[in-house]
Amino acid sequence: MSSFAEWPPAVTEAQLETLTIYATTYALSHGLLYLPATTPQPPAPASAIHAPLSIFPSLLSRRLFDHAQRLQKAYNILYARVAMDEVFLDRVMGEIEGVGKVDNFVGTMWRGWKQLRNENALAQLGLFRSDYLLHAPSADTPVSLKQVEFNTISSSFGPLSERAAGLHRYLQASTHYYGTSPDLKAANFPPNNTTAGLAEGLAEAHKAYNVAGSCILFVVQAGERNVFDQRWLEYELLEKHSIPVIRQTFDELAKSAILDPSTQALRVAPPPGLSPAEISTIYFRAGYTPTDFPTAAQWSTRFLLERSRAIKCPSIPLQLAGGKKVQQVLTEPGILEQYLCDKKWGNDVFTQIEVDDIKDSWMGMWGLDDDDGINRARRLASSLVLKPQREGGGNNIYKDDIPAFLDALPSKEREAWIAMELIVSPRGTSNYLVRAGGGPESAVRTEVVSELGIFGWALFGGAAPGKVKEKEIGWLVRTKGKDSNEGGVAAGFSVLDSLVLI
Ligand code: ADP
Ligand code: MG
Ligand code: MG
Repeated sequence: MSSFAEWPPAVTEAQLETLTIYATTYALSHGLLYLPATTPQPPAPASAIHAPLSIFPSLLSRRLFDHAQRLQKAYNILYARVAMDEVFLDRVMGEIEGVGKVDNFVGTMWRGWKQLRNENALAQLGLFRSDYLLHAPSADTPVSLKQVEFNTISSSFGPLSERAAGLHRYLQASTHYYGTSPDLKAANFPPNNTTAGLAEGLAEAHKAYNVAGSCILFVVQAGERNVFDQRWLEYELLEKHSIPVIRQTFDELAKSAILDPSTQALRVAPPPGLSPAEISTIYFRAGYTPTDFPTAAQWSTRFLLERSRAIKCPSIPLQLAGGKKVQQVLTEPGILEQYLCDKKWGNDVFTQIEVDDIKDSWMGMWGLDDDDGINRARRLASSLVLKPQREGGGNNIYKDDIPAFLDALPSKEREAWIAMELIVSPRGTSNYLVRAGGGPESAVRTEVVSELGIFGWALFGGAAPGKVKEKEIGWLVRTKGKDSNEGGVAAGFSVLDSLVLI
């Protein structure tokens, strides 16, 4: 069996060149794609490039992979319950007591939600992704998986990760990776059906809404380059569930969205020539970053959508539940038990072993709202990352940058940040990475760190708040050069990868 330090197996230059040609042509043939970086994006694209990818899948122990998949049920239910807990979200993310006081983005979202809550207790949908890194702090501690974060909005790369897994399965089938490793056999490549799983979550919400002829709305960013990841979901919804999708930006919706004043039904005018369609489910692939709200108009549209009786994925409370501050507060004594062990939430009560498994997946985290937290962050800076309430990569402060950052941080902004212990990935693993297409294609051998994401959906709230319908539905691996702190594929720091289980 291979060890991390021996990965990947040795291949010749000629073999690597063949694998690279096979990989990029497979990616181009199978929709493992991005739009090229052209501004502005033309309305009708004429060309695409392959996504950044790895030539070999990454090693993971079967035990840890199974474990991460098993954790997802508790995580799905945990975050559903947090989203239904207004008192908790007000305390942690609100504008009076919580992060919303010091973070304008969070504060605006919370204020909007505060004004329209109780208008209707509607079902909500979460399409989640729980992200993990391998943690191996010393040679004599067993390798474990630690959670990086839990995403409740715009959890991306499900369909592309399925295609990256297909790519590695194809390289195995076509070349057997030249017999370079006994681990690289088909039985060790786990299935990846994430596209069907995500579409199933959206279809369940659509079914729960239960209005014939309604559509699902995808709220997207203008100029989005990761469109194929989204389009694969649309095709799956149409082909497997006969549910049509309308894609629009906040700016388009400002003109096209109509809320029925008596029923709160949302209607959206699709492309010209078709009559307005009722929306069953609103799937946000935009609205997770302040740049999606350049003016008050986009906020008005966001709140109009929230006010509608369509099922939101996510609702504002569910988006707030995904904040890094919530992740940190959940680690405080007794909080997790309130959500997983109290019968008041319904029949799914978790055992102490299950609760401990969730806790074991966490690194130490604390707030920076008092001097103790700040001093501790200064003292331990070399083994920490600081995070604000943001998504999409590129927002964190690492290690040696922390003291100077804290010096410059106005004291009233401290509460918007959390400190988190750094996960220590096993050293010595490498891979051949192929950057996003568009240039001369070559695979570069790099020492890497791989981040595993487990997808899940949860449908909850509405008429039966005690019942959370949920499922673990798939996985993703993103691999980055070990010297890059951040790991966003879209931000250009990492590549799409898959798994070989040992
Ligand atoms: P975002 O919501 O912007 O994706 P993350 O919490 O996922 O924020 O942080 C971005 C990246 O930073 C992660 O993908 C990971 O590569 C790195 N990172 C975050 N937290 C840690 C940690 N505790 N230890 C090591 N790396 C981390
Ligand atoms: Mg992340
Ligand atoms: Mg995130």
